[in-house]
Amino acid sequence: MNKKHKPKYPHGYPTCPVCENEELEPGQKFCDICGSELEWKGARAMNPQTKVTFKLTIGFPGAVQTDTFSLHDLGYDPETDTDIDKFLEDQWNEWKDEFVDGGWNIEGSKGDE
Ligand SMILES: [Zn+2]
Repeated sequence: MNKKHKPKYPHGYPTCPVCENEELEPGQKFCDICGSELEWKGARAMNPQTKVTFKLTIGFPGAVQTDTFSLHDLGYDPETDTDIDKFLEDQWNEWKDEFVDGGWNIEGSKGDE
């Protein structure tokens, strides 16, 4: 694999996909040269040191659990985790499953008439 030249904005400010114009400003919607609509793939890439707080409440007084992680702790990879909302939702779900436990038990179902 040959090394790609380092992009000016390492977290996803692309060159124009049509004319390869590299003079793009963050957030710019259209290419100045060819007028193509720009897709800011990974424009929401986050710094892995960003802190995220997870919170869980279950509606009882005092039943609040919070934990703070850095994105790095959570295994965030800006290259592959391009959808930060989805990533955090998955992580939060895993996290809260460690605290949430329960189910049901049908009384009288053990053959005791
Ligand atoms: Zn262009």
